[in-house]
Amino acid sequence: MAHLEAQREIPYNLFKAKTPLWGEVLETYRLTPPERPEENDVRHVVLSSTGLSYLPGQSVGIVPDGYDPRTGKPHKLRLYSVASDSKGDYGDYKTVSVVVVRHFWNDELGGQNRVPGVCSKFLCDCEVGEKVRITGPVGKRFLLPTDYQQRDLIFVATGTGIAPFRGMLKQMFEEGYEGQVFLIFGVQHSDTVLYDDEFKTYLKYPNYHYATALSREAAKNPFPDIVPTRQNKIYVQVRVWELRDELRASLAKPDTVIFQCGLKGMETGVMNVIDKIGLDLGIDNLSKELQTDGRMILEVY
Ligand SMILES: Cc1cc2nc3c(=O)[nH]c(=O)nc-3n(C[C@H](O)[C@H](O)[C@H](O)COP(=O)(O)OP(=O)(O)OC[C@H]3O[C@@H](n4cnc5c(N)ncnc54)[C@H](O)[C@@H]3O)c2cc1C
Repeated sequence: MAHLEAQREIPYNLFKAKTPLWGEVLETYRLTPPERPEENDVRHVVLSSTGLSYLPGQSVGIVPDGYDPRTGKPHKLRLYSVASDSKGDYGDYKTVSVVVVRHFWNDELGGQNRVPGVCSKFLCDCEVGEKVRITGPVGKRFLLPTDYQQRDLIFVATGTGIAPFRGMLKQMFEEGYEGQVFLIFGVQHSDTVLYDDEFKTYLKYPNYHYATALSREAAKNPFPDIVPTRQNKIYVQVRVWELRDELRASLAKPDTVIFQCGLKGMETGVMNVIDKIGLDLGIDNLSKELQTDGRMILEVY
């Protein structure tokens, strides 16, 4: 990884849980159609954050209001990847944006189903004008290399794992990026592709390649023998295989970097298919080689 890192200042932990930055909700809107169930409620939230510098790929902490009934203490912070570039959505370095999915879980012991997650509910329910405690930023790994301009980059995201790539792509194209970049994005339905319109605007750049993998639409995995998936669903690894010719050309270069962000469990399927592409390049265990070299960077949660 060291070779990816020329000298630069990485902002880190400027605000801590005991001394947070109080931000204000400036904008909040649902990114998915209202007719989709609550599990598909994903919101874009813009918070005022004067004094907080950050890089796309970092995360901020959000401290939800209230107390944890299990401990009687204030709720602990939860991390959310920054979804804006360093300038923020308004371009004035005074905001930070996050993308939040409403989380539910089943309490087997208490016998309660669909218990709302504390912080995702807090953030999704926040209205414009409400004050929110922000901490961080944190994260020093999941960052564009300082010399990214000519490198090929492969971004693989599922769900809210798209957040860091939104900021990175904005920065890259504003700065005249010259490599080949692939964005492969997995969600359930065609109408729950987060920021789809925005990602399509970059198609005017010939070095930008965008593919979505829709796991709950009618289409099935056309390569079940080579890239097996549960119930032949179309997951991101299927799209990786579909793009194998272009990706092979990028992976043959010694400085290409793959970033993966999103659901825990996505990495195995993607690594397996990268290994298959590696075999065509005469490389055994390409995914391991990329990891050892710091060129396969993961953020899963
Ligand atoms: C680096 C990083 C980046 C992230 N980025 C994003 C992002 O961009 N967008 C996003 O939406 N999320 C993101 N997350 C996930 C986020 O931090 C939260 O974990 C998520 O929103 C759920 O938090 P919650 O407070 O809503 O749920 P919680 O209330 O914390 O519940 C989470 C889980 O804790 C367990 N649990 C909770 N209460 C109990 C209890 N009483 N007894 C037993 N078990 C319990 C359950 O298993 C439940 O599923 C990120 C996480 C990490 C680590």
